[in-house]
Amino acid sequence: MDPFALLRADNAAQAIAVHAADSQLAFVAGGTDLIGLLKDRAASPERLLDINGLPNMAMIEAPPEGGLRIGALARMSDVAADVQVRRQFPVVAEALLFSASGQLRNMASIGGNIMQRTRCAYFRDETAGRCNKRSPSSGCAALHGLNRNHAIFGWSESCVATNPSDLAVAFAAMDAIVIVEGQTGERRIPLADFHRLPGSAPERDNVIDRGDLIKAVEVPANPEARASHYLKVRDRASYEFALVSAAAAVAMDGGRIRSARIAMGGVAHKPWRLAAAESRLRGISLDDTEGLRSAIAASFVDARPLAHNAFKVELAQRVAVRALQTAGARI
Ligand code: SF4
Repeated sequence: MDPFALLRADNAAQAIAVHAADSQLAFVAGGTDLIGLLKDRAASPERLLDINGLPNMAMIEAPPEGGLRIGALARMSDVAADVQVRRQFPVVAEALLFSASGQLRNMASIGGNIMQRTRCAYFRDETAGRCNKRSPSSGCAALHGLNRNHAIFGWSESCVATNPSDLAVAFAAMDAIVIVEGQTGERRIPLADFHRLPGSAPERDNVIDRGDLIKAVEVPANPEARASHYLKVRDRASYEFALVSAAAAVAMDGGRIRSARIAMGGVAHKPWRLAAAESRLRGISLDDTEGLRSAIAASFVDARPLAHNAFKVELAQRVAVRALQTAGARI
């Protein structure tokens, strides 16, 4: 780890101005991903600006119009334990509880969680050589290397990495909005547009610019949210990033699906919503496993597995079906 100076901010406008003016400065809240990046030298800012003292950014509020507003500095463990979150959006509470360890969840912030960088081993290992995300134009060692954990959707020749955040998958299924304040004022960014596909610039994970501060995430009310579930499949149940995960939610009408939401993790550079499947699921009974499977398959016709991860195509569809059935059993 390279040395850095630690500064502290006590108001948002000051933090945004300082960040905008200094290309060698990074915000730090819980630091649970950033410190790992510093140790791996995948990031080496000269200055860290501690934003934990910023006011009104750790709340969990229920606005009158419904849904929830979760402050960017709220800790994962606090959000997972919040009774409003558990009642209104079980998928969000479960995605948090399946993330990391208890100690990490006590430190990690909601804003930092959705800013996490990929766990691609080539990116995290400074001795591994070619990685366009770590060093633009150097190549992608995973494309023809070990790519069991990598993407099956939306990848490019420049990068085949996946996004590691469980919470972002749940937020994607719930159509959450990221509230960002920058030098030109506040922006409301749908979670679906927050993370980027790699394209030719995989060094950019998201649409955040210098001088942008994530202030909160809004999760709007929706008719499916209470019957929702997050299912995560990983190599080690105690603590591991997802091989494949699904955030599913469903509303029923006389024993048949009226509307469904499914987003998947571990399959792309961003949370991957199964839009084609969602429209085909209407009218199907949750007991009709083959019918569910057939509807979900519509979202996998453009899956492009790599040399070592073809198993994810089958696994992801099974995970989506099971997540949907588990969510539906909660009605
Ligand atoms: Fe780097 Fe992306 Fe290739 Fe991994 S998949 S080596 S992060 S460019």
